[in-house]
Amino acid sequence: AGTGKSTVAKILAQRLGFEFLNTGAMYRAVAYACLKREIDLSDNEAVGQVPSQIEIVFPNNRLLLDGHDVTEAIREQEVTLGASVVAANPTVRSNLVSLQQAAARGTNLVTEGRDQGTVVFPNAECKFFLTASPEERALRRQLELNAKGQFIPIDELLTQQTLRDERDQSRECSPLVPAADALIIDTTHLTLEAVAAQLETHIRQRMAT
Ligand code: C5P
Repeated sequence: AGTGKSTVAKILAQRLGFEFLNTGAMYRAVAYACLKREIDLSDNEAVGQVPSQIEIVFPNNRLLLDGHDVTEAIREQEVTLGASVVAANPTVRSNLVSLQQAAARGTNLVTEGRDQGTVVFPNAECKFFLTASPEERALRRQLELNAKGQFIPIDELLTQQTLRDERDQSRECSPLVPAADALIIDTTHLTLEAVAAQLETHIRQRMAT
């Protein structure tokens, strides 16, 4: 979270003329649907059924859930925390992984998400793992929220971020780890434009070989 992966992946997809997939948005959409249906997020059985009951589509980088545009709504704090809870559910994961693999079939794709290089696309041509210091990541999140007119103290954001990181790293099913063959890039002191340029160079070299 907060490493700039979505922004970088979007820039890359544009520059390369590839499709773009934001898998975090899919977990967020499931969490959003659960909250709307007042499903207790700790009820694994009920949560596991949700992905097969909803339709998620991505026209023009928007996310439609059952035909409704929830692109902004899924960025709310409650959904952000809920997403890391539903993401630990193995039934939810296997359902979304199938959708992600289907989206990649027969096309060139830039995808981003914690398990993309390890579980979903182990044979991807290029893999990158972006990191940044916790303080920088929380600051980026704060700026993103500020731009939407919301102010949340940095301490609160850091606490939420740590909770989310711990959940993502400690879950049994597809925990957050870099793929062994991923290039690890620390974005703390880099602009996201510079990160995208670095990755683009790497990909173009790979495409030329
Ligand atoms: O990347 P983003 O912050 O939008 O992801 C929201 C949540 O979805 C993460 O905290 C994580 O728990 C989950 N997620 C995941 N696997 C992915 C993408 C996101 O578990 N591939």
